[in-house]
Amino acid sequence: MEIEMFKIGATSLKHRTSIALLVDKPEFVKTIKRLREKWNLTKLFQPDQDSELMEHICGPEKNYDRWDNFCADIETVRRCFNRTPNFDKVIKYALAFTEIPEGAFRSTYFKAIDNSEYPDDIEYAIIVTPHSTPAEVTSELKEFKQIMQDQIEYRSDKGKLERAIEKYRYEPGPAYKDFDSLGTLDRTRLWYWEMYGEQIAGNANAKLKSYEEIDKELRLECPKGQDHETKAEQKKCPYCGLDDINSMQHLLPKYKKALESQ
Ligand SMILES: [Zn+2]
Repeated sequence: MEIEMFKIGATSLKHRTSIALLVDKPEFVKTIKRLREKWNLTKLFQPDQDSELMEHICGPEKNYDRWDNFCADIETVRRCFNRTPNFDKVIKYALAFTEIPEGAFRSTYFKAIDNSEYPDDIEYAIIVTPHSTPAEVTSELKEFKQIMQDQIEYRSDKGKLERAIEKYRYEPGPAYKDFDSLGTLDRTRLWYWEMYGEQIAGNANAKLKSYEEIDKELRLECPKGQDHETKAEQKKCPYCGLDDINSMQHLLPKYKKALESQ
């Protein structure tokens, strides 16, 4: 199966950027292609079809070891690309789903730190990253207090406790300051895939299109037929809102460099 540009549902610019700077890497795309073949993912699942994915992976004989191996593959990918565990879900969605949905990724997360051999000797931390905001920290704290209340219940049930710990997601994330909006990020990604899609697919000798060609092609792909209701809406359109090719000639090489370095 040819890999298409991954759809990213995150509505926060910093989250969408962090995700894009992983999933657009040619090495990452190659890895996904290999793993889709390995796990026979010939058809992608909808973001809410988690249990269908699990059934597919475990097979009719309900072999849960296969699911563990699948998750281990995801972890290996994450470590290979030097990301923290809050990227596991991003990788899982990129691998098996039609979209990486909103919520698959967090920049601030709660973590239980258990370095002791005594089961109750746990420290709790809210992990912040350069992308964290005060609102996120407050919301994690609120969630943490709720979790503490639930602890009494969890403690009586090891399975429940483990599932609760699994839910604590976290992330670091590369900083990329040149995107002033979601529209700019989305447009840069579209250009990136138009320009390098063939190379990403493994055709190293593919001839690169010119900026003018891509501009023309993308404008024709505008879902609104380049006829937007307002000027502001058109400016946001990743397909036809580009004012000036020069700005993309500046941005695209920087995006490519960021993908190579982060
Ligand atoms: Zn448009």
